[in-house]
Amino acid sequence: MRPLPRSLDPLPDEALTGYILRLSRHLGTSPGTVVIRTGLASEKNRLSRVPIRLLHDLEPAELHSFTRATRLTPDEVSRLLTSSLAGRYGPLSERFTPRKSAARMVNDNAWLLTRTPRYCPQCLTGDGSEIQQLHGGAWQRSWFLPPVFACTKHRRLLRVGCPKCRQPTDEVEMGSVIARPWDEDLHPTQCRTTTASRTTGHIQPACRAQLAESGHVVPEDLPDLKTLEHLLGLQQRLQSLLDPASPEMTSCVGWLIPVADYFADLRALLGLVFLSWPAARPFAATPTLAEVLDDEAAQRYARAAVLRGEPGKKHSSRPFTDPPLPPLPMGAVLGVAERLLDVEDENQARERMLPLIEQARDFDQALSLYLRREGWISFPLRIAVMNRSKHMAPMHEIIARGPIPSGGLRRRP
Ligand SMILES: [Zn+2]
Ligand SMILES: [Zn+2]
Repeated sequence: MRPLPRSLDPLPDEALTGYILRLSRHLGTSPGTVVIRTGLASEKNRLSRVPIRLLHDLEPAELHSFTRATRLTPDEVSRLLTSSLAGRYGPLSERFTPRKSAARMVNDNAWLLTRTPRYCPQCLTGDGSEIQQLHGGAWQRSWFLPPVFACTKHRRLLRVGCPKCRQPTDEVEMGSVIARPWDEDLHPTQCRTTTASRTTGHIQPACRAQLAESGHVVPEDLPDLKTLEHLLGLQQRLQSLLDPASPEMTSCVGWLIPVADYFADLRALLGLVFLSWPAARPFAATPTLAEVLDDEAAQRYARAAVLRGEPGKKHSSRPFTDPPLPPLPMGAVLGVAERLLDVEDENQARERMLPLIEQARDFDQALSLYLRREGWISFPLRIAVMNRSKHMAPMHEIIARGPIPSGGLRRRP
């Protein structure tokens, strides 16, 4: 693998796919060519797709050839991959999502938006530097994480899909994480979705809509100011937890737990909140968010009812456990989950969550237990929501005897 004639410095929080788009533009070639020339696919089976798993992790041989071709360090490459977020983001950590390979970790993992990342049109414009004026800003790695739903810099919700063709901006065809990998003519911030139907036999044009927006645009669908302030504050807190420079532990039901555990708890509570709705309605931060969740929960119950009516294998838990794609219901349900976890101790947590647990148990006992099982949530939350009899030891004793997570476990000071 020979070095490419020119390379590019990665931008902060850039995803590998976005880096490949910018690098191909920089070299005047197609993303598919870059994928082959950096050793991420072999020339022999001329690639028609860029595997989704490349977003998450590279094989050692791929890492070697990619660093050599791009002259990046292994550290720089690892920061382009979502696997390096797993230490802080439980839904991608093997501890909470035990899967054996990168492909399995990303395949069908609803907590990584491989097919429909959200984006901030203003961030895509870039910071005005020469290189970003040429190729646009970064397609950010955090945009692939469901809990990142707003841009605090531009004080707006992220956008889902292309405003022109109304489809995902990088329509995944045949499991390719970059659409139209052989198309050389598209700018990294243009919509790559093929809008015409594929059945006509020859190559159809891409949508080509420019997704970056410069200047002072008033974003569409902004919620009322109080709701927006709440969502931006929540987003700020969640993103600082994901920041590798921030503390590794955070407070949860009165205990300090590893940040990865906290995100696992948010994932579980999202399912519990929808499964038991409207039990958690009092915890919605504003009337707007409560109404958003009324609608969202109603749609989810309807979808689950349809699935339950179908014969054969049942996937009826997904309507409750999948994170919402639109930013507003996503922010709304995360805000509720955050408030449920923000209590003095596990007794108060139990008090707060008991109505949810009872409601969820009545509706779907198996799923209610699944969401509270060991290896799915943090140890203190498990203590707070497990089935307990009157004769059990006080919770601080159980916790003191219990398995201590790798990061240690102690009461919040
Ligand atoms: Zn932005
Ligand atoms: Zn489009």
